[in-house]
Amino acid sequence: MSASNHVRPLDQIVAATLTLEGGGFEVFRPFPSATLDLVDPFLLLDELAPAYQAPGKMVGAPDHPHRGFETVSYSLAGEVQHRDSAGNHGLIGPGEVQWMTAGDGIVHSEMPSDRLQREGGRVHGLQVWVNLPRALKRTPPKYQAIGSDQIVTVTGNGWKAQVVAGSILGAVGPAETNSPVGYARVTIEPGTQLSVPIAAGHTALVYAFDGTGTVAGTGETLEAHHLAVFERSGGDVVLSVADEASSSLDTILLTGEPLNEPVARHGPFVMNTEAELVEAIEDYRAGRMGSIPATQPATS
Ligand code: MN
Repeated sequence: MSASNHVRPLDQIVAATLTLEGGGFEVFRPFPSATLDLVDPFLLLDELAPAYQAPGKMVGAPDHPHRGFETVSYSLAGEVQHRDSAGNHGLIGPGEVQWMTAGDGIVHSEMPSDRLQREGGRVHGLQVWVNLPRALKRTPPKYQAIGSDQIVTVTGNGWKAQVVAGSILGAVGPAETNSPVGYARVTIEPGTQLSVPIAAGHTALVYAFDGTGTVAGTGETLEAHHLAVFERSGGDVVLSVADEASSSLDTILLTGEPLNEPVARHGPFVMNTEAELVEAIEDYRAGRMGSIPATQPATS
């Protein structure tokens, strides 16, 4: 970092829109939206709305494809049962992250666990789509299952950062990324101000999912289900929470080097050109992204 520790200017605060996804569950979505298409290299941010679900009533996202980017899923409450066309399956439980590189193409399902369906329970989570550089859009699919004990926690006076990817506040996250990307859950207690140095030129986003804070510089309020988009010019992201706040501010911090490549997107496919999108749709329809084996045993 340079010696200048100035406050990174805020570009805008975007309110998430409550929308239906998958089989009909509610997500808060700051982007893509009418006001914000994407923030290079990030393509989408969804917060699975916090809710209590009654037994047998839960819906998920049944079999669907992806190509050309990565999906990063973080469970805050409840377990997601993942199955995919590569034959992988597993649970993403509370505090766990799945970093899935769809790459060349994968068909997967993201469903409530058998336990949740049987017993009901609280659900809450986040999913971020990270674009892949042109040269890696057709890389073989894979995923990294990141346990809560692998996530690197760093704490200070009144704050905590749980680093999943990149180098943030002196901690290095476990996820292997395909371009310089940082991902951390950052929690700030009442009466605390936190400065987070981020490389000049990199994207910086803070999505709040609980509590209320203030963005330094402008003094603008950051409430739950709102995204703060910072300028790329450089400087620290500085957030504070008032002494009298009734709860901590809980956020996801995303940082990344912009890819600066053309983006062509259509639903679950994100490529560089329209021709590549047509190819992706044809490959999916022809079954070339595979299908989820029917014989997989449940893991819960
Ligand atoms: Mn998916």
